[in-house]
Amino acid sequence: MAEVKLDFLGDLRRTHSCGTLRASDAGQTALLMGWVHRRRDLGGVIFIHLRDRDGVTQLVFNESENREAHQRAQELSSEFVIAAQGTVRLRSADTVNPAIATGEVEIAVDKIWILNESRTPPFPLEENVDVKEDVRLKYRYVDLRRPHMQRNIIMRAKIAFAVRQALYEQGFLEIETPFMTRSTPEGARDYLVPSRVQPGNFYALPQSPQIFKQLLMVSGYERYFQIVRCFRDEDLRADRQPEFTQIDLEMSFPQEEQIFEVIEPLIFRVCEAAGHAIEKTIPRITFEEAMRSYGSDKPDLRIPPFHCVEDLFPGAGLTPEGLPLVAIHVPKVGHLSRKERDELKAFGQERGLRVYDDPKRLDRDFPEAMAQVRERVKPAEDDLLMLAGWGGAVEGALPERTALLACGQLRLQIAQKYNDRHKLLDPAVLKFLWVVDFPMFEWNSEDDRWVAAHHPFTSVHDGDLDKLETDPAHCRAKSYDLVLNGVELGSGSIRIHRRDVQTKVFAALGFSEEEAKRRFGFLLEALEYGAPPHGGIALGLDRLVMLLAGESSIREVIPFPKTAKGTDLMCEAPSPVPERQLRELGIRLAVKQ
Ligand code: ASP
Repeated sequence: MAEVKLDFLGDLRRTHSCGTLRASDAGQTALLMGWVHRRRDLGGVIFIHLRDRDGVTQLVFNESENREAHQRAQELSSEFVIAAQGTVRLRSADTVNPAIATGEVEIAVDKIWILNESRTPPFPLEENVDVKEDVRLKYRYVDLRRPHMQRNIIMRAKIAFAVRQALYEQGFLEIETPFMTRSTPEGARDYLVPSRVQPGNFYALPQSPQIFKQLLMVSGYERYFQIVRCFRDEDLRADRQPEFTQIDLEMSFPQEEQIFEVIEPLIFRVCEAAGHAIEKTIPRITFEEAMRSYGSDKPDLRIPPFHCVEDLFPGAGLTPEGLPLVAIHVPKVGHLSRKERDELKAFGQERGLRVYDDPKRLDRDFPEAMAQVRERVKPAEDDLLMLAGWGGAVEGALPERTALLACGQLRLQIAQKYNDRHKLLDPAVLKFLWVVDFPMFEWNSEDDRWVAAHHPFTSVHDGDLDKLETDPAHCRAKSYDLVLNGVELGSGSIRIHRRDVQTKVFAALGFSEEEAKRRFGFLLEALEYGAPPHGGIALGLDRLVMLLAGESSIREVIPFPKTAKGTDLMCEAPSPVPERQLRELGIRLAVKQ
């Protein structure tokens, strides 16, 4: 880099940000600070677009008006940090720039201060420049200057603020819970932190503040919330982060209804803060209905439900006795080629379905039943209508659910595959939904036992308490999910607040009394000291911001995310540590570093 003489900030103060000046400010003196976004040198005149987080303002350096300032402007390059002082003036009509908010004015600069220089950025900071993600992540501090990242991160801050406003107004207290704790019940692997002063012992980073927030209810705080980091050491799928942020809350004496009454206004407020107008009601369906209408516990309502029509085809053999036959209906996708239909058929077959993709043939073979199908589904002329039944042997604990899930995947696959052509899944359309009455338990075929569908502190429906021991498959939980456009935004439940009920649930989950005591003894004990009925929910902030920002990856809304392998490319974490540090912790590695 050529030698540039740098100036001190001294007692310089900005008078305006780069996004605020308007025509009505003409004639004023202004002092702006920011980054050189773009420079155009026309010889006698130099134009600089000066950028800060608020916007861009044009600076003009005219050799004939101010020789000294013009000379210094020649030293500037992209991303130099400067302060510039001058007079706000109207641009001539032919140079007005309607693309920027300050486009009617410019600043005729009298004096500039160069506060810092910059190496040439590793990529241009313009909108819509395709840059490889690993380069973006390595130079994240530069990437975060790009307009779309600034929009996302600012939106995230606004959303967090709206959450706080909504919850403070409803009497929630923001209370911190520890990060260095012991294993929590969300069921993933923990991140461990070795203790130096107690060698051989480890803290776990919390997968959620679940137990602590329940304890805060036992302690009488009644309404708690936190926007909190959670840590789960799961096998990283494409869009998972080992640490992520939840809007976590808990309240005392609630019915499920009251949780919804807290969350709905919060959601409306957050959407407003993010500039979205949405319907002010969130529909609710039960888990069973979600399965029978969408084949999913997180239905995407931007496309219509499917219909179970096995009752219209008795004895037709299209699906095995007792299993669903599903009429899948996707708008506008009716005119697929033979090859495209075959691809969908193969997709269904791979998941165990038998797909009947030719409605004309079905009309011929089953005219009356198909008339009734059309009556139920009401497809338009160019919509796709196909039937899917179960093709293979009837296996597993819940064959009906397996079949419905496969149909749900096929329905989504059709919409996703032809989304470009038909705009079926418009990210600007926001469809929220509550799914309620989840099953209490799920069968884990690997371990051959029932596991908690939500977590082991979830209440069972009052009417299903007796079935805990005799019929776990049909116990419904007082749990609920909030879904947005097919993405689970969060889950919660009314908790168990009685020691005797908690013991029964642990027994149904196959936990021995000792194991329950070892893992959650302090919670069990707390339940014996006047625990009030309580319940809560946690919403994923990263996903919420992602969907409201119209992004398809959470990395676009997290300032410093990790890659799919859990690496921070900028600070190169995780990293080996010096032998001495390990020794202090009493740790010897079994793998070579
Ligand atoms: N702790 C739960 C979770 O992180 C949420 C809740 O039950 O409130 O999924």
